[in-house]
Amino acid sequence: MYQTACANRTTQYRALPASKVHSVQQKRLHHRCNIFLKSVWQTMNELDFYEIRFMREALLEAERADLEDEVPVGSVVVFMGKIVGRGHNSVSTRLDPTAHAEMIAMREAARALGNYRLVDCDLYVTLESCAMCAGAMVHARIRRLFYGAADPKGGAIESTQRLLEIPQLNHRVIACGGFLDKEATALLQEFFRQKR
Ligand SMILES: [Zn+2]
Repeated sequence: MYQTACANRTTQYRALPASKVHSVQQKRLHHRCNIFLKSVWQTMNELDFYEIRFMREALLEAERADLEDEVPVGSVVVFMGKIVGRGHNSVSTRLDPTAHAEMIAMREAARALGNYRLVDCDLYVTLESCAMCAGAMVHARIRRLFYGAADPKGGAIESTQRLLEIPQLNHRVIACGGFLDKEATALLQEFFRQKR
């Protein structure tokens, strides 16, 4: 399991391909991303145990969403090795288009820490985040984002755009996908299969 997660991660974890880098600004971004990738990679090797552990907690949240007949996506926010916020997708239950797993987990974390800035917090989510959640993470100053499965239709981290890499942003969230992505995908596939 450990090795599978690592292997998945290396395939998901990538910078902008050099062949697509054209402008000076893009070249700078490409260079900066690679530095980030290298520095994060070293830190991440030390933290593999926590990544898997916390992603499992996010998966538990996704299962809760499933039980509520919501699209199964779950999230936790971690500060100093402890979960300070957790949430699962509840858009239908709450009649709230912003009630994505990450938003709920960040709201809970902000209340727990008494600060709307979630400095030094890491967010774990089972599915690649959308533009709304990625934007909220920048506002909240989330340190690192770990996600499970990629979302080709709505993901704003690597799939439809690379929102967190916009150079004008005043905060950079370091993002890495592919953690327990098979489990996250299986949950989603089963949910939509039953819907058909
Ligand atoms: Zn979202």
